Amino acid sequence: MTPPNQDWLARSRQAVWHPCTQMKRHEALPIVPVACGDGAWLVDFEGHRFLDGVSSWWVNLFGHANPRMNAAILDQMNTLEHVILAGFTQKPVVELSEQLGQLTGLGHAFYGSDGASATEIALKMSYHYWRNLGQERKTGFVSLRNSYHGETLGALSVTDVPLFSATYAPLLRQTHRVMSPDWRLAEAGETAEAYALRAAADLEQLFRQQAGELAAFIVEPLCQGAAGMAMYHPAYLQRARALCDQYGVHLIADEIAMGFGRTGTLFACEQAGIRPDFICLSKGITGGYLPLSAVLTTDAIYAAFYHDDVSRGFLHSHSYTGNALACRAALEVLAIFRDDAVLDSNRAKAAAVAADFARLASHPRVSHGRHLGMIWAFEVNDARPGFANRFFEAALTRGLLVRPVNNSVYLMPPYVVTIMELQAAFATLQALLDEGLD
Ligand SMILES: *Cc1c(COP(=O)(O)O)cnc(C)c1O
Repeated sequence: MTPPNQDWLARSRQAVWHPCTQMKRHEALPIVPVACGDGAWLVDFEGHRFLDGVSSWWVNLFGHANPRMNAAILDQMNTLEHVILAGFTQKPVVELSEQLGQLTGLGHAFYGSDGASATEIALKMSYHYWRNLGQERKTGFVSLRNSYHGETLGALSVTDVPLFSATYAPLLRQTHRVMSPDWRLAEAGETAEAYALRAAADLEQLFRQQAGELAAFIVEPLCQGAAGMAMYHPAYLQRARALCDQYGVHLIADEIAMGFGRTGTLFACEQAGIRPDFICLSKGITGGYLPLSAVLTTDAIYAAFYHDDVSRGFLHSHSYTGNALACRAALEVLAIFRDDAVLDSNRAKAAAVAADFARLASHPRVSHGRHLGMIWAFEVNDARPGFANRFFEAALTRGLLVRPVNNSVYLMPPYVVTIMELQAAFATLQALLDEGLD
């Protein structure tokens, strides 16, 4: 017999140090044991079902226990699970690198295992590029206010979430922050585009003063996820691209969360019509199956490392670089995008629920209702401290998994979610607001 929920909960508290968590909080807030996954749903040991409204931390694209993904990974497992990538190569890593190159317009994919390692790779490559060119003063990095680029020390240096970074300040490198284009912060009557351009002027001012010491500007294109799904106008990215060109600073697009269709296009940068100097990919890259990240860059940057001198090369590595199982999962993800016309189908789903979301967004307790691709978000105006936990628990008892960021509630489901499931999720959110949950 399968042990009940309660056993796993207690054993997990005893043996597992959970991420991003004050463990003492779990004296009161229960940990949710998950027995299995089924498409857009998670199921606990007692058979309760929850719609995975956060795509298991923004990674899952085509549902849990997806038969097509399972078959591809099993096939790869029976062929080659992993081989050292220094001095060796294999079919999945070559094919994936070719396809990602075509899709991003960049080349030579470098692999890591997590999003944070992709950030580290891009920062190190950018700095090292300038050094290889003899521009050793260009060591600085710039990011947006409320940015999130991961939790390792380099990534945390360009992350602007004090709750995550303030404690570690003595270990972190000083980096620059510029105004975020997040249109929630616009003045009354100011358009998202006007606000985006005002924010870009702040970037320009920094570049004008300090570009000689700056290696790169790192940005989450179109939506700052960890800031509470802070969406912004693509004009910001166009202007940032132009400024980076003008002042000789690299543009790093951190598409770790927004890549792979989340914003409605395969990559968010496409909506601004720009190509970054580096793109960081992870999360959805394997459909939420296996840890994998990739950084792609321009041929010109690659060429600056190509030399007889070993130390001009990029000597960074991770043991699981280019893992064959993960690359094969990523290839299957790209094949599903093609075969099932996923972007079109997502667009149709979003259009079908637009009126339902508009109704939710016009709720008297709600402001800044916003939608981008497969993300729906809004602010709850009268939320009290601790709202996020209470809302999470209440939604869970109604079969919906959401994890608000402060008072920003968002829905970011796997793409296999149905129109009816989306409508039901909006109805659940509406009911919790109607009941006065604050
Ligand atoms: C999640 C995330 C990261 C870090 O990825 P991990 O796999 O959690 O290390 C970096 N940047 C963005 C925009 C993210 O959302």
